Amino acid sequence: MSRSAHPAGPRHADVLPEGHYAAPPVDLNALDPKVWAQTVDRNADGVVTVGGVDVNALAAQVGTPAYVLDEEDFRARARAWRTAFGHDADVFYAGKAFLSRAVVRWLDEEGLNLDVCSGGELATALSAGLAADRIAFHGNNKTPAEIRRAVEAGVGRIVLDSFQEIVRVAHLARELGRRQRVQIRVTVGVEAHTHEFIATAHEDQKFGIPLADGQAAEAVRRALQLDSLELIGIHSHIGSQIFDMSGFEVAAHRVVGLLKDVRDEHGVELPEIDLGGGLGIAYTSGDDPREPHEIAKALTEIVTRECESAKLRTPRISVEPGRAIVGPTTFTLYEVGTVKALEGLRTYVSVDGGMSDNIRTALYDAEYSVALASRTSDAEPMLVRVVGKHCESGDIVVKDAFLPADLAPGDLIAVPATGAYCRSMASNYNHALRPPVVAVRDGEARVIVRRESEEDLLRLDVG
Ligand SMILES: *Cc1c(COP(=O)(O)O)cnc(C)c1O
Repeated sequence: MSRSAHPAGPRHADVLPEGHYAAPPVDLNALDPKVWAQTVDRNADGVVTVGGVDVNALAAQVGTPAYVLDEEDFRARARAWRTAFGHDADVFYAGKAFLSRAVVRWLDEEGLNLDVCSGGELATALSAGLAADRIAFHGNNKTPAEIRRAVEAGVGRIVLDSFQEIVRVAHLARELGRRQRVQIRVTVGVEAHTHEFIATAHEDQKFGIPLADGQAAEAVRRALQLDSLELIGIHSHIGSQIFDMSGFEVAAHRVVGLLKDVRDEHGVELPEIDLGGGLGIAYTSGDDPREPHEIAKALTEIVTRECESAKLRTPRISVEPGRAIVGPTTFTLYEVGTVKALEGLRTYVSVDGGMSDNIRTALYDAEYSVALASRTSDAEPMLVRVVGKHCESGDIVVKDAFLPADLAPGDLIAVPATGAYCRSMASNYNHALRPPVVAVRDGEARVIVRRESEEDLLRLDVG
């Protein structure tokens, strides 16, 4: 087969450009359940459906691009975490992954707590009616106004991140006549991402108070002396998109070491330990994430074992999954605008969104999958790069993927696993209007965050 016979793009391994793509999948129409939300399927016409609604109907109803969220899947994942950790542990959903009032209500109903890290996230949670004592407030530079609001609202815990903040929170709490529950975030010297983790030398970051040089012990000393603070535990968060439990093992060992030192010095056994979030999800078929029950079992065993050997009562554990709950629930639906074949190089598929709705590819070199959603096709696989419509050549959504060679303008394509850190990191670059989030369940689609309008943009422009 000669290349010139296929002007739409290169087809064979011997003419594929360099990149880290796998071989084309056997069936381009198949939807790997690893990367797609639970209720995603194709109907008899070959159209992708989610929650019983097909994407052509969705596009007609809300337009494209759009984030399409499988509500049943979100609830099932939240519940799986809740159930896996049982009554002796708390699950805090990390709101920064994606937060809206509907999400807060689902969490409330499924028995999860919530992490926020800004006044805006706190306001969203409170306005959706979540009890303040189920909220944890994070961040390395909370403003005095944010702290005041959190203490006034009665948040369940503030996670202290610096010596200045210990004093600041204590001062504001005293002024408000409150005793604020707090944890101290420590840096355990472990950084974990995806398949590998590195111990030592990772104190060099803005979050947390280092364990290594005794600073964390000093922070505990100071917090225990302040009457307006109730120190309930130690917090550690080691990274993101982690598949390997060994980083948590080292983190738990070191945090329990601190708990033991605190007991020996102050005669106090701190009742809680928070191991953070960071559990990985499948963005492509090559990723193998762990199930919540495996994670719960592993973490509980690690902490119990460490405490037994330190002769401490096992503290209450909390975890803070963000991506692992919301990431897989959502796909982004785009319409194809152009298909540009560069002979001998690659084929560029331009969609009606891009780095303004998914910055992760540009920011982290993230990998994604993609499928033709508005129909099936028997055409042969074509290696493509899915790009956005922004004035930036790094505006890439999916770096290397296979789509059918008959892909054409007007087709809808869907990029799965975009529930975390996509809408929440979306921007107005090029004055793009941020896409809506549509929750689909039982045959019904409900907009939970509406599409931005030009009026929204112009409202801020008061010059
Ligand atoms: C970001 C973050 C999380 C959530 O991370 P995921 O990778 O989304 O699970 C949890 N805890 C803290 C403190 C964080 O900063």
